[in-house]
Amino acid sequence: MKQSEDLQEILRRIDHKGYPAYKDTAGAYQFGDYVLSIDHVQGDPFASPSKVSIHVDGKRAGFPADMTEKKHTRIALADALVRRFGKEAEQYSHKAKGSGKSGLIAVSRPGQEVLERSACEITPGSGDVLLRLEVGFPANGRTIHAGELSKILFRFLPECVHRSLFYKNADKKHLQAVRELAEDQFEIRTQLGQRGLVAFVADGAVLPRESGVSDRPMKQAVAFCSPQSMAVELELPYAGKIRGMGIPQGVTLIVGGGYHGKSTLLKALERGVYNHIAGDGREYVITDDTAVKIRAEDGRSIQKTDISMFINGLPNGKDTKSFVTEDASGSTSQAANVIEAMEAGTRLFLIDEDTSATNFMIRDELMARVVHPKMEPITPFIDRVEELSDTYGISTILVAGSCGSYFYKASHVIQMMQYQPEEITELAKQEAGRFADITKDKPALKPAGKPEFHRVFAPGKKGSQNDRMKIKGMGKDAVSVDRDTVELRYVEQLVDSEQTMALGYMVKYAKQHLFDGKKDIRTVARLLAALAEEKGIGAVCEGRYLPCNLAVPRVQEIFACLNRCRSLV
Ligand code: ADP
Ligand code: MG
Repeated sequence: MKQSEDLQEILRRIDHKGYPAYKDTAGAYQFGDYVLSIDHVQGDPFASPSKVSIHVDGKRAGFPADMTEKKHTRIALADALVRRFGKEAEQYSHKAKGSGKSGLIAVSRPGQEVLERSACEITPGSGDVLLRLEVGFPANGRTIHAGELSKILFRFLPECVHRSLFYKNADKKHLQAVRELAEDQFEIRTQLGQRGLVAFVADGAVLPRESGVSDRPMKQAVAFCSPQSMAVELELPYAGKIRGMGIPQGVTLIVGGGYHGKSTLLKALERGVYNHIAGDGREYVITDDTAVKIRAEDGRSIQKTDISMFINGLPNGKDTKSFVTEDASGSTSQAANVIEAMEAGTRLFLIDEDTSATNFMIRDELMARVVHPKMEPITPFIDRVEELSDTYGISTILVAGSCGSYFYKASHVIQMMQYQPEEITELAKQEAGRFADITKDKPALKPAGKPEFHRVFAPGKKGSQNDRMKIKGMGKDAVSVDRDTVELRYVEQLVDSEQTMALGYMVKYAKQHLFDGKKDIRTVARLLAALAEEKGIGAVCEGRYLPCNLAVPRVQEIFACLNRCRSLV
């Protein structure tokens, strides 16, 4: 192993030379109690910054086994280390000067969710810590300024590393709290299944966010408090007894006047598939982690999806058992989203009337009388919601502000009133009973039968030969793989642009290694998820170094992304 002195020597030699001479610094160097590895050197001061990683041997890092052994505590610890390191690095970023990105020191910036990231990996067993960051190697114009890089690597980084990646220097109380929260969240997830619940929202939870562009908790929000009739008490290993609203399996309706907090509750449930950091307000809002938000998504592409459960006999004669379009309508897109979520193995649909296609959700009686059912290709969701629950074991939580018909189908009705929930199932059923049952003279609907899930694809014409496929992320909205843009804006449970980047690499990997015209798309999504699960997110990017800005998506989002790839055939 080269020593830090060797790096100093290289820096002395290349000082004042042209920028490309920085390439000589690539390699790993022993810096006392850690290893600094320069994994990739940028081509010029304005290019994407250089990739650097820090490796601390588990024995030296010293994090207790109860933080590093179980997956959920390990992810929480890694998340805490990235946040800590980020705070330290912030003080030093751009303290070294120069042109372009000179002096930048940057590490991933996690939001409110705790996700597994390539920015920090902890190895179970050994407890080794690996942290990835970006450094802008300093230059004057395009001339190497080695003295400034030396400041970064020999003064700034050692400070950051020592303060954040060694247990002996860490805020131990904080890290204990991080571990305990992760254990408690894990326990709630485990108990959901055992108690036949699909979601839990603790009393005291703060659901609304600061603003449309900030994911931080709203200050002075009305704290959540469960209605007595739906309250459950869970016993957690660290937080002890905790009370909150348990949403049972089945069909649950959230109703209430406009602006009373319905969508806010649903949004919190959508995000509840992930764990949140302490102070977020949604720490104990936990949803079945297979839950999928279903919405209308006009314009999306649909490739061979069997939407015949909802749509049949289209006027253009298109086959809806293997539906293909490059520009879906509101209803066909929402139908495809339902079927694909089933295919991805969801146990819970989350639907907001606000973002649904009305003709997909309901059909009122008058309309049914005027427009003959034979002329209507759509079997609305309301006619399938019970079958989905009873036959397929998929629950639904639905926000309905204006459509009372769902009262007939709901097993639970929650009314939001001034941001507080109340259970009104009895009342809603009584009122519904007094109203003529709109479904009563309708001929009984035949069950849909299981959708056909066997969809196979080949990688398309640009396909598998090309191993230099370029991946470009566009925030959370889209990722382009070899100039094929996959729109992900309406895949709402994608919460971090690093997940989107990871999906880009997954699409590339799938095109090169998995799509073969034989494996079905579900299998491909599962293989990608398994690869990331077993070997880390790095396994899907085969480059010389692993990007420091990837976060692991759920299999549901992997699947959603593959479904929106227009280049598959
Ligand atoms: P709805 O879907 O019922 O029309 P929203 O969920 O969109 O209502 O909420 C309306 C507004 O109220 C939003 O601006 C939201 O941030 C705010 N809000 C929601 N829940 C709370 C709460 N618990 N405390 C304070 N404000 C809230
Ligand atoms: Mg709303």
